[in-house]
Amino acid sequence: MIRENVTALLKELEGGNCYHEKVTLVAATKTRTPAEINEAIAAGITDIGENKVQEFTAKFDEVNGARRHFIGHLQLNKVKYLIGRTDLIESVDRNELATELAKRSVRAGIVTDILLEVNIGCEESKSGYPLEEAFSAYERLSRTEGLRVKGFMAMLPLAGDEGYLGGLVDKMRALYDRAKAHDTNIEHLSMGMSGDWRLCLAHGSNMIRLGTAIFGSRTSPVGQHLPVRQ
Ligand SMILES: *Cc1c(COP(=O)(O)O)cnc(C)c1O
Repeated sequence: MIRENVTALLKELEGGNCYHEKVTLVAATKTRTPAEINEAIAAGITDIGENKVQEFTAKFDEVNGARRHFIGHLQLNKVKYLIGRTDLIESVDRNELATELAKRSVRAGIVTDILLEVNIGCEESKSGYPLEEAFSAYERLSRTEGLRVKGFMAMLPLAGDEGYLGGLVDKMRALYDRAKAHDTNIEHLSMGMSGDWRLCLAHGSNMIRLGTAIFGSRTSPVGQHLPVRQ
């Protein structure tokens, strides 16, 4: 089933987004086992994303051949477990986190690739920079030693009609284009989950994070199958 899903998705993504840009498909792996993740990679998945630091470290040691994204809310005291182990941290949602990532990256002698997360729907339940603050945060962080800003990430609200939601993606695309105009590091606009990815691609996203569309519905609570470890 995983293989069939990945094959069909990659086929549909061949044409790219509405600008014919290449689309990166990230498999969102929360609650999935290393065996399931490896099956997705064998089927052609090149990028995987995990939400929780504990799952990231426990599972991603057992999977091979994919770029590793961190896509969840990141606590400051967990940053140290991720330094040097990620290909892209998509969820840099506040200045304190960026500062901590920069400090530890410099100390480790590396540059950490990040996306800035924007709370595009202004939702209390979600984190991220307000849209009005995102460009100035980008300008500052793109000059911060230890960090390389590669673009932006956002999650659409669950509710809302297509016109409203498409308009939110348009706003994110405008932010992305403004940054990209003078910065060759800017490559990714990460928007789109299983329920809304076609809409996001139609409005200029070029990276999507899919869980259920690849692996099927999540039946177990997050992390249930993993041994508890600190
Ligand atoms: C779980 C998750 C996804 C994927 O969600 P699906 O609806 O299963 O596709 C994408 N992005 C983030 C940040 C997630 O936590």
